[in-house]
Amino acid sequence: VPDDDDSPAQPPPKKFAGDVVKVVEHYNTRPDVGVKQRLDSPIIGLKHFNNWVKSVLITRFAHPALSSHSSSSRKGPPSGKVLDMGCGKGGDVSKWVKARIKELLAVDIAGVSVDQARSRWETIRGPRFDATFATLDCYSEPLSKAFPPAKLAQPFDVVSMQFCMHYAFETVQKARCMLDNASRWLRSGGVFLGTIPNAEQLLERLDGLPPDAEDLSFGNSVYKIRFEDRVRKPVFGHRYHFFLQDAVGDIPEYIVRWDSFVQLAAEYGLHPIYKEEFHQVFAEHQDHEEFGPLMVRMKVVDANGESAMDEDQWEAANIYIAFAFEKR
Ligand code: SAM
Repeated sequence: VPDDDDSPAQPPPKKFAGDVVKVVEHYNTRPDVGVKQRLDSPIIGLKHFNNWVKSVLITRFAHPALSSHSSSSRKGPPSGKVLDMGCGKGGDVSKWVKARIKELLAVDIAGVSVDQARSRWETIRGPRFDATFATLDCYSEPLSKAFPPAKLAQPFDVVSMQFCMHYAFETVQKARCMLDNASRWLRSGGVFLGTIPNAEQLLERLDGLPPDAEDLSFGNSVYKIRFEDRVRKPVFGHRYHFFLQDAVGDIPEYIVRWDSFVQLAAEYGLHPIYKEEFHQVFAEHQDHEEFGPLMVRMKVVDANGESAMDEDQWEAANIYIAFAFEKR
């Protein structure tokens, strides 16, 4: 740092060890392709669908004070403070714009992604919410390390963790640190929402492999999941490797058993109010007055109701579940 630099001293970059190194490197080196190139993705239908599921979840739970099932009834000035943990490249920034929130705090372990997320927010056209982006390993470090006390003084109304919470289930310490960060600054009545792989389904597929199989993998042309071990770990550290075409390149992830997650979350005052497989989210909302037309606008289906996903993408979509917990 040059002598004349009067910016506050930055802590030295954190040194990562173990699986987290692969996760950080993977996400930091994935290019943030433009909208046009994104549309050329071979799994664009699946990506649109995942975005639609997140939009449904965010719209339904972005304003916990309202019991409304849709955002259309929400008028008035923007409101609500949101924490996005594992925000990635800011793929949900536009969803928070539509949800008309007032403030967003967003963190991710991958610094390059955080910069891209901030740029995405900076280029929002029209009025935008206040936002602060920071790099943080939020499964090993407290949120207070990323933000000054003033930023955390007013509690969050919503904490969102999309497609990222399962990395914390490597150890009990990480899972507890993640839940502490999710809950500590969340107001009573606030909502913790997210999307994670469906452990029950993955373990069922593992059990269905021939007893003498050496290669413990399954999948299709779009995704592949490879377990290292048939023996189930009691709760934490049951590792598998996940590959998703044009999205996730063979990186280590961990099984999140729903019952264990619910039990642990209860210790942090978080109690489940919603849990559905992605296929079920589709079935529940496809004819909804707001989310049905949204599916056409988000190119999940065309104007004739034809899906943009082939069979393999549709199967891959149901690897995930959506959840919401309420803080009590
Ligand atoms: N939530 C974003 C979305 O839905 O587009 C990104 C999802 S991406 C599949 C998973 C994200 O989790 C990556 O950006 C990764 O860097 C982040 N992540 C993994 N471990 C993390 C940790 N310990 N702390 C913060 N972020 C983490």
